[in-house]
Formats: sequence, C-alpha cells, structure tokens
Amino acid sequence: MKILYTCEYCGDHIDTLEVDEVDEVKFGFDRLTAQERQDIIKTDAAQNTIYVKSLCDQCIASMGLDDPIALGIPEVNKGYIH
Ligand SMILES: [Zn+2]
Repeated sequence: MKILYTCEYCGDHIDTLEVDEVDEVKFGFDRLTAQERQDIIKTDAAQNTIYVKSLCDQCIASMGLDDPIALGIPEVNKGYIH
C-alpha cells in the first residue's frame, strides 16, 4: 500500500511511502479527530493508496508554523521531508 503526502497549501508532492500495512499510531493518524481524518486522509482502495494532506517545509516555514504534528505530518517523517 502507498501513502502519498501532498501539500494542502501549494499542492506539491511531499513524499510517498510504501508500507505493508498502515500503523495508525506510527503515522500519527490516531491523533486526529474523526473530522480531521475525513479532511486529511483519503483512501483509494482501487489504487491501494492513501492520500494524506499535509504541508511541505516551504509552506510551514512561510507560515511560521513550527508544530508539524498538529498539521498531520507524522513524527516518523520529520527527518526526511526535505
Ligand atoms: Zn507547500
């Protein structure tokens, strides 16, 4: 299964992960409310892909935000979204 991160603000592709199964805790999805999940995560079963809306580093920087976890970027990714 693929997890595809796209910047919600500028539309840029941020990252694609290949996973055997989705560990919601590892990806930080368990921190989202039901409403946030609906807004942020779109599952395409036919494509075996999960689309996750996030923010790229540039947009985070330009908005002066420094808490990417609150924006749906899982902690495990912080190291290599650059
Ligand atoms: Zn962006």
